[in-house]
Amino acid sequence: MRTHEQETPQIISVATSTTHFRVLAALNELHLRYRDLRDGDIATYIPELAKANPDWFGICVVTADGQVYEIGDAERQFTIQSVSKPFIYGLALEDHGRDAVLERVGVEPTGDAFNSIIKLDATNRPHNPCVNAGAIATTSLIKGDDPTTRLNRILDMFGRYFGRQVQVDMSVFMSERTTGNRNRAIAYLMLNFGMIGSNVDQILDLYFQQCSILGNCRDLAMMAATLANNGVNPITGVRAVDAAYLRDILTVMYTCGMYDYAGQWGYSVGLPAKSGVSGSIIAVVPNQLGIAVYSPRLDERGNTVRGIRVCQDLSSEFGMHMFDATLTSPGAWASSDAPPTMLDADASAKGQLAAGAQMSNPTEANGHARSTSEATA
Ligand code: GLN
Repeated sequence: MRTHEQETPQIISVATSTTHFRVLAALNELHLRYRDLRDGDIATYIPELAKANPDWFGICVVTADGQVYEIGDAERQFTIQSVSKPFIYGLALEDHGRDAVLERVGVEPTGDAFNSIIKLDATNRPHNPCVNAGAIATTSLIKGDDPTTRLNRILDMFGRYFGRQVQVDMSVFMSERTTGNRNRAIAYLMLNFGMIGSNVDQILDLYFQQCSILGNCRDLAMMAATLANNGVNPITGVRAVDAAYLRDILTVMYTCGMYDYAGQWGYSVGLPAKSGVSGSIIAVVPNQLGIAVYSPRLDERGNTVRGIRVCQDLSSEFGMHMFDATLTSPGAWASSDAPPTMLDADASAKGQLAAGAQMSNPTEANGHARSTSEATA
């Protein structure tokens, strides 16, 4: 007997249009292009992350109108780690407003590693909400009378972005907590400068818990698509964040989301983004779509190697760079009438891509490309 849940029709059409097939073919091509790239190493600072299979590789794109395109390990769960940081920043802004948050956390890129210990600015603020110091300070601002209320508010917020209930991976959380002495040092330094309250252990627990939230590529693409869609989850229609703060969130993602790679990222990809040490990355094309890639091998800065390559190619081949004035039709991804170069079967300079785009059915080609169009609840 079928359960009520199974009977709820979530998927209302499955890859029927030419556009869907062509977009899937393009993602399929990207997946094929990079699945043999084995540069980088997985994070091993806690045993739980070291258990990841380095070859896992998922890509998901969700458009601002709720089309979902995914390939590979897009539904494999991992902990969201630093991808959580700009979203917590959004919640802190909602709780206190821009001026009060700016007193505690700046918006300046550091050019340093994400877990840099000593860098506070002239007013003793951590530089931005994307490095650990700034993220811990941001987390300390989340309102709630007790730790459980604060955690629940965070989980509720991520639930609005994911479009489903979220949970914390307890073993990752416990490991982060046991081994997190560097973050503890950062927190105590900020306590010393009066930037966070004296409940350091509670603040750190909350920070470790937000890092240990479980999600998959599709969830992360949904988060990015929600930011792209003016703060409203494109599937559920639920507002996840006050539209007034989107610009703050997207700006710090653009300038600081990739740590000491942020400048090169902005130059080559031109999109607000955030990476996490378990191997995920999200990128936002405002008003259009969200991208998420999961692949655990990291470069020396802690950013996913394949994730960066996929985003670079998507940006250049689909014309997504926000400041590319030569683009006449930056919205081409989601429209069927003006497909960008990557989908152009006649673009001889992109021979390989064209070959991918010509495939009649990418789902048959490798058995795991999927496209769905889901109803707004
Ligand atoms: N849990 C990690 C830390 O606090 C998150 C870092 C990251 O994803 N870059 O160091």
